[in-house]
Amino acid sequence: MTIAPTEKPALRTPGLVDAHIHPDKTSWGDTWLSRRPAATLADLISNDRATQAAYVTGVEERAYALLRNAVENGTMAMRAQVDVSSELGTRNVEGVRAAAERLAPWLTVEIVAFPQFGLLRNPGTLEAMAASLDAGADLVGGIDPGGIEGDLHGHLDAVFGLADRAGRDVDIHLHDGGEDGLAQIREIARRTVAGGRQGRVTIGHAFALCDASLPSLGETLDRVAEAGIWIATCALGADPVPDIDLLERHGVRLALGSDGVRDSWSPFGTGSMVDRAHLLAYRTGAITDAELERAFRIATQHGGEMLGVSEIADWAGPESPTRLEFAADGIPQLVTDRPAPTRVLRDGAELALP
Ligand SMILES: [Zn+2]
Repeated sequence: MTIAPTEKPALRTPGLVDAHIHPDKTSWGDTWLSRRPAATLADLISNDRATQAAYVTGVEERAYALLRNAVENGTMAMRAQVDVSSELGTRNVEGVRAAAERLAPWLTVEIVAFPQFGLLRNPGTLEAMAASLDAGADLVGGIDPGGIEGDLHGHLDAVFGLADRAGRDVDIHLHDGGEDGLAQIREIARRTVAGGRQGRVTIGHAFALCDASLPSLGETLDRVAEAGIWIATCALGADPVPDIDLLERHGVRLALGSDGVRDSWSPFGTGSMVDRAHLLAYRTGAITDAELERAFRIATQHGGEMLGVSEIADWAGPESPTRLEFAADGIPQLVTDRPAPTRVLRDGAELALP
C-alpha cells in the first residue's frame, strides 16, 4: 500500500503591481534585439529613439506580448510610462491602451504621457502630451528638469500646468544625482504641497535619494514624506537603490517597477514582479524573512495603494476573491525561488486568456 504525499496548501497572496514599466519600448515577442553600447543617459536615449524607429512590429503587439506575460506572472495592475514626443505624437499611447484593453479585466493599466525625448527641448511635445490625455493616457509625466531639460522651473511649470488644466496626477522620471538632484526633488515637493497635490505625485528612480553621503538627504526625505510623494524604484543592475529602512524612518512611501524590459536600454527583465521583488531584496541585502516579506509587500500592496487599487492595497486575506496562489512554503521562499503563480484569481474568476 502506498500513502499519497499530503498535498501542501497553496500560498495565497495579494496581486502584484508594477509601478513603473515601459511597454511601448519592449522587444518582447520579437526576434532578439542586440543593443549598442551607451556611456551616458544621452546615449541611451539616442539608442532608444533609433530602436523605436526601426521596430517592424507595432507598439500594440509588442506591448500586448509583454503585458500578457506580466498577467500570467501575477501582475494585476501597472503604471505604464509611454513615450510622447513631437515625432511620435500619441501613437505609442494608443498602442499601449489598445493592448491593455485586450487584457481587461485581468489587468488595470494607468498610462503616463512621458516626454522621453525632452519637453522644452522637443517643441510640440507638450501639445502631444495634452492630446494623449484624450487618447488613453491618464497621468502627466516629466523627465530630469535639470539634467535633460536644463530648466527646472520651466519644465515643472509645463508639467504641473498641464496636470492642473487636465485635472491629472503627475509622475516624473528623475535620474539626476547629487545635491542638485535633491534640490529638484525638494522643488517638486514644494509644488506638490503648494498645489494641494499631496499623494498624487510620483518620482521614478530618484537616484539622489539613494546617496547617504549627501548632507541634505534627511531634510529632503522629510519634504518628500510631507508631500506624500511616492518613490518608484526599479532595483536596476548598476543603478543606486534606496535604503528602505531610511525611507521608512522618514515616512517616505516606496513602490516597485520593472522599468524597461528587453528594450534598447537593457537586455534584462521579464515583467514578473516576483522577479523584481527578488531583485529589490537582493540589491538591498535582505537576509531575514521580514526583509524578504517587505520586498514582496512593496511589489504588491504598496503598488496597489499608489495606483488606488483597493482589492490589492487593502487585501482581505487568503479568502479574498482577488488573489494569487503559489507553490511555496511562504513569502520569503517565494521571493527567493521566483515561481510563477499556479492560479490567478480576480473577483473570483480564474485567469483564462485566449
Ligand atoms: Zn522609466
